[in-house]
Amino acid sequence: MAKKNKSIRIFSILILLGAIFFIFSDDIIRYFNIWNNKQSKISEKENSFNNISLNNSMNNNKQNILLVNKEYGLEKGYEPDDLEAIQVNSNKEILLRKEASENLKRMFKDAEKEGIYLLAVSGYRSYEYQEDVYTTEVFNRGEEYADKYVAKPGYSEHQTGLAVDVLAENYTDMDINFENTEECRWLHNNMYKYGFILRYIKGKEDITGYSYEPWHIRYVGIEHSNKIKEKGVCLEEYLGK
Ligand SMILES: [Zn+2]
Repeated sequence: MAKKNKSIRIFSILILLGAIFFIFSDDIIRYFNIWNNKQSKISEKENSFNNISLNNSMNNNKQNILLVNKEYGLEKGYEPDDLEAIQVNSNKEILLRKEASENLKRMFKDAEKEGIYLLAVSGYRSYEYQEDVYTTEVFNRGEEYADKYVAKPGYSEHQTGLAVDVLAENYTDMDINFENTEECRWLHNNMYKYGFILRYIKGKEDITGYSYEPWHIRYVGIEHSNKIKEKGVCLEEYLGK
């Protein structure tokens, strides 16, 4: 009798498991597909700083430059795999992608030779960090102001690990008057030699979607930074967007 009861129990459990699988089969299959996709994306070899997985295939451009702005965003989980702590003067630990970090170091060193002491104040920011920055800014100064100066999470160039905010050792306020310093002039005149461009330039606010920021620079590689400087355009114009 006990044996019969046991068989009935096992049979019932099997029926129940079968029913559960039948009801949730779509979800289970979907889950494993997502998981597989994630794994293959992570294992994709990155062979240049621009070649990354994007949630927006429209971002493809012939120059192969990663464009992140109010229109083109990054995946929530996107984090470059070659981030490293920058080896230059900064007010905290700052991460950038390897190639950008090396060129920033070269630039800071050359600036120092001319008596210019730059200071890095912000580099790579994760999606979650940007979420905090944005919601804090909305809370403190309202949505309109926040949208002018702070990117929504997923739409910050800082998430690429290729953007860095640079001020001076003797000027640490992130405001428009930074442009009147000798350090800012040096930065704007020389950064293109190291692969950096000024991202949010004066007079292009309608195209970039951001107010002029004399401190926010973006690594695009020396070939492109030279061309962009020569043309005097913003990144969106250079990419024909
Ligand atoms: Zn910035």
